[in-house]
Amino acid sequence: MNSVDTIELENRFCANNYSPLPVVLVQGEGVWAIDENGTRYLDMMSAYSAVSHGHVHPRIRQAAVAQIDKISVVSRAFYSQPLGAFLEELSRVTGFSGALPMNSGAEAVETAIKAARRWGYRVKGIEANRAEIVVADNNFHGRTSTIVGFSSEPSYKADFGPFCDGFKQARFGDIASFRDAITERTCAVLIEPIQGEAGIRVPPAGFLRELRKLCDETNTLLILDEIQSGLGRTGKWFAFEHEEIRPDALILGKALGGGIMPVSAFVAGREILDQFDPGSHGSTFGGNPLAASIGLEALKVLDEEGLIENSARLGEHLKSRLQGFNDPAIQEVRGRGLWVGIELNRPAKPYCEALLREGVLTRETHENVLRVAPPLCITLDELEWGLTRIERVFNQLR
Ligand SMILES: *Cc1c(COP(=O)(O)O)cnc(C)c1O
Repeated sequence: MNSVDTIELENRFCANNYSPLPVVLVQGEGVWAIDENGTRYLDMMSAYSAVSHGHVHPRIRQAAVAQIDKISVVSRAFYSQPLGAFLEELSRVTGFSGALPMNSGAEAVETAIKAARRWGYRVKGIEANRAEIVVADNNFHGRTSTIVGFSSEPSYKADFGPFCDGFKQARFGDIASFRDAITERTCAVLIEPIQGEAGIRVPPAGFLRELRKLCDETNTLLILDEIQSGLGRTGKWFAFEHEEIRPDALILGKALGGGIMPVSAFVAGREILDQFDPGSHGSTFGGNPLAASIGLEALKVLDEEGLIENSARLGEHLKSRLQGFNDPAIQEVRGRGLWVGIELNRPAKPYCEALLREGVLTRETHENVLRVAPPLCITLDELEWGLTRIERVFNQLR
């Protein structure tokens, strides 16, 4: 089948909820993705951070294959072998006492919402059914009907209501706005420490520290959604480390699946995790042996292969090279680690299309932000290969 047929087939039978660039990827190899004709592309998208380890990482692949040959799915009706080891390692790297494993990011966010509300009623003593969660404007936490209900993005919400009560929005980066939004009914603040889908928006320095203080003063949980920012993407294990704070709970996903399958988790201390008792929450596939063995290896690889240090080091290089472009279309280059947004004063899609022709994969976010987020295993030479082409495209479209 040629690419035109493949694309036609997918378009005919799949819902139209994305608009993919016209390339059919059939094989991955580290930072490279290869199409049906054998053309190689540098992946500077990393599937929104889900491919932070690169494609078909040999160690993670090996862990997956070994587990598939044993057993993959048992459900949590029974114990299975790798789950405890995976969650022990997750607790070690996060510094929390445990976790509840899920599959998609949105499911882990839903888990956080349920945990926060139970904690609000049972520990904080909030009046029944009155608990509120304060979120940021321009947030992205996933696509379930509850989650899009507290989004500020019209395209995420149009004609999907009625939405769930109990959420309040404050302005991202504006501590006074959060102070105004929190009341005695607030059980949690749920926020991305750096907003990914909003355009890789880094809050003002000190904001997270002030938010931590505000949550302490008001007995409110601080829950960070690090599904995209976590696991090395920003050059540290977690984005909250840049401000030396600790959240009360953490939501992880994307890279936790090692580029192979969906693995997510709600990570917290015992006082929060123990709000769940048998029957109160679950997921048929959550924490399955295949996912757990992949998640365990994904965490070990980040640690043992120095991917986080690489993200910090090459991320600085990436940002300063892009900041040196001096192109009239560029309004701002921002980000941390190998996670950079180039905000343009025009639509970013033509840049993505031109980059595709040059052999570089990326996508725009929010119309006018070009996302540059390669796998964390990228080398300096590979990064330069990509930067040369990005520079060429900026010159072409000038
Ligand atoms: C991607 C993402 C999610 C949703 O994850 P899914 O696996 O797509 O459900 C939630 N929060 C953030 C910050 C994300 O980037």
